[in-house]
Amino acid sequence: MKTLLPRIASVALAACCALGAVDPASAQASTYTQTRYPVVLVHGLFGWDTLAGSVDYWYKIPQALRAGGAKVHVTQVSAANSTEVRGEQLLAQVKEIMAITGAKKVNLIGHSHGGPTVRYVAGVAPELVASVTSVGGVNRGSDVADALLKIGPDGSPVNAVLAGAVDNTLAALIQTLSGNPELPRNSSAALNSLSTAGSLKFNQRFPAGVPTTACGDGQHVVNGIRYYSWGGNKQITNLLDVGDGALALTGLLFNGKPNDGLVAACSMNLGKVIRTDYKMNHLDEINQFFGLVSIFETSPVEVYRQHANRLKNAGL
Ligand code: CA
Repeated sequence: MKTLLPRIASVALAACCALGAVDPASAQASTYTQTRYPVVLVHGLFGWDTLAGSVDYWYKIPQALRAGGAKVHVTQVSAANSTEVRGEQLLAQVKEIMAITGAKKVNLIGHSHGGPTVRYVAGVAPELVASVTSVGGVNRGSDVADALLKIGPDGSPVNAVLAGAVDNTLAALIQTLSGNPELPRNSSAALNSLSTAGSLKFNQRFPAGVPTTACGDGQHVVNGIRYYSWGGNKQITNLLDVGDGALALTGLLFNGKPNDGLVAACSMNLGKVIRTDYKMNHLDEINQFFGLVSIFETSPVEVYRQHANRLKNAGL
């Protein structure tokens, strides 16, 4: 009997697997991020979908979400332009995604300038949107944009020359390498959209989810759309990451306010604020560069997985 039992167990296991029965633990793992509606990722300023066919903006994030059952679409809008121009580009892509997949709605997740960009689509086409999530989003402007506008005010020759130069170099290079050279570029308009004044003006037209207090939650549900936000408040998180030094410098522009190097933590708040005190800088929020993030914090990839599970559990 002693020798027979393990044999019976192994035969039973083989029979179970041969019949296609699924181990409950692995089934749960494979559906953890299986949202009802597709997840649509929207990049920030100077962002892209995939560069040169191999470098993803959302480093290892779509893959992790798909492994848990989510349908994920990575979009590309102008690397530098106004929220409204980027928003119209995104709206067209959302409609395309819905036509291809047959989905009735989408879950929009935007990073940085992608935050206001997804809010634009939720504002003009609420019937297409199940949820809006802003990650390190510029919802109340960036002190870095304000500082740049002080150097080159809107309409000034300095602004025109510098913005034109950026349009024709960095922004053009990003769009060419990502296979979207035709998208219009307007760094001056992007700077206005990302400034405090520009953001507040945008918020008047699209107030959904924006907090009415200095640094609190906004409404969690508006027009049937759920609003969420998270972000980080650190600049240097990994000494091997070459981006951290630059973010430490720009972080000095915030006069001591908690920030991720490019956006103040309170500016990130939108709808249900999950956390804006992750030990992450602006690039860590998309798991860049190449996964070089703090070892003392939850992996950004895991934070996205948890959020997809949150959306799933909300029936979205
Ligand atoms: Ca990093």
